[in-house]
Amino acid sequence: MRSIKDVNLSSLTTIRIGGIAKYFFEPRNVQELKHALHFAKDNNLEVFFLGRGANTIFGDFDGFVISTRRIRGLRVSRKGNNFLIEAMAGEPLSEIVNLAIKENLEDLYKLAGFPATVGGAVAMNAGAFGYEISRHLSEVTLVSWDGEIYKLSKSEMKFSYRSSPFPEIGMVFSAVFEVPVASRNIREEHRRILNTRKEKQPINMPTCGSTFKNPSGNYAGRLLERVGMKGYRVGDVAFSDLHANFLVNLGNGTFSQVLKIIEGAKRRVFEEFGIVLEEEVRIVESGSAYGRKVCGA
Ligand SMILES: Cc1cc2nc3c(=O)[nH]c(=O)nc-3n(C[C@H](O)[C@H](O)[C@H](O)COP(=O)(O)OP(=O)(O)OC[C@H]3O[C@@H](n4cnc5c(N)ncnc54)[C@H](O)[C@@H]3O)c2cc1C
Repeated sequence: MRSIKDVNLSSLTTIRIGGIAKYFFEPRNVQELKHALHFAKDNNLEVFFLGRGANTIFGDFDGFVISTRRIRGLRVSRKGNNFLIEAMAGEPLSEIVNLAIKENLEDLYKLAGFPATVGGAVAMNAGAFGYEISRHLSEVTLVSWDGEIYKLSKSEMKFSYRSSPFPEIGMVFSAVFEVPVASRNIREEHRRILNTRKEKQPINMPTCGSTFKNPSGNYAGRLLERVGMKGYRVGDVAFSDLHANFLVNLGNGTFSQVLKIIEGAKRRVFEEFGIVLEEEVRIVESGSAYGRKVCGA
């Protein structure tokens, strides 16, 4: 197995902050993935599945990071007025978004302008402008933690705001979307969405997107702005001047600066509004909630 030891993770995330993973591997197919899960079990290692790293910040991780970025592929067919798009986990989300724009498909274009893999977007139930990726999802092929591969239809999975059954029940290996052709031209709206992102988000800086989920009936960005976090800086990590919920790396940001600024922001929002912000971004280090031990493989 081409597993690599002691890998620096910073270049594998969009915020470009990261510690060291004890093991790192990029399987290309199910066999290699199963092999990796067995290896993790035999060595009692925690596992973290990594996509584009656009929602992940790493400290040191004394476990096994399994990246999906070599699990690529896209298949497209027609079913009446709908397009059936089957995408492998490591396929960039932009590939299916671009296809949706080219074919004038409903809604998927709303996910334009942010980095993700298809697997990571399904796992996060990524969404924007009132649309979530689970809406047109029809089926997922997954590899369970004990190395079994099987399919689940949409009705067998529960999705909610930035929440899915993954990676809890295993790794998204591929996903099928059934998307109707739109009855109007979507290009103008797509352009508006990109312009909004450019104006309101620090898309040209190393960032991980929204740090916190929006609490029910409110916006995390608004609360953070009201307690003075917009532009607030700890070392080289700051909440963006453009969007108070986006953490940015100003150059040499560190994991401990990330932890400090997040803790400070949560404390201020709680003191002012009595609201406990919940992280959307995955903070991953040894023993954190996101690494998992493989039990049955
Ligand atoms: C500039 C910018 C703008 C953003 N805007 C948005 C936005 O508008 N809406 C939005 O929802 N998000 C946004 N994000 C956040 C991010 O793009 C999404 O959360 C995206 O879905 C993360 O995908 P990823 O492949 O990078 O996942 P990663 O960060 O690699 O992983 C995220 C989580 O998914 C799990 N995971 C990854 N792949 C798999 C898999 N194959 N199977 C099971 N679990 C898996 C990981 O274990 C982890 O828990 C933005 C980020 C940036 C940098």
